[in-house]
Amino acid sequence: MASIFSKIVSGEIPCYKVAETNDFLAFLDINPNAKGHTLCIPKKEVDKLFDLDEHTFNELMKFSRTVALAIEKAVPCKRVGMTVVGLEVPHAHVHLIPLNAMEDAQFIKKETLSPEDFEATARTIASCL
Ligand code: 5GP
Repeated sequence: MASIFSKIVSGEIPCYKVAETNDFLAFLDINPNAKGHTLCIPKKEVDKLFDLDEHTFNELMKFSRTVALAIEKAVPCKRVGMTVVGLEVPHAHVHLIPLNAMEDAQFIKKETLSPEDFEATARTIASCL
């Protein structure tokens, strides 16, 4: 069965898109640790990040860096953190999280955003790419 992220790639499930290339997609996490929390994924469905072929892994890191630099410009924060977990969705992804405090990196404190907040945040990050 296709992962929820493959359904986002195919358009079956909507997302707040931040960036897209032929092979990669960045969109806002629906249950963010902080405003601007973004997921970067390869469109090709592979469960574990380190099982990606070397080329795709390196290109995902390059794509994630581009997105992280845009987040840093768009969202007030001390820095953008990068985390890999994958315990919930079995489709390789990188979390890019604007950090102001250690709790922002801990997946404990969650931010509630309205659809308008999500849309505006995605648009602002995209405009900084
Ligand atoms: P992980 O697999 O790294 O433990 O966590 C998966 C992340 O994906 C979580 O932070 C969760 O909020 C996010 N997520 C799960 N389902 C969806 C979805 O349908 N849309 C979006 N945008 N994010 C999701």
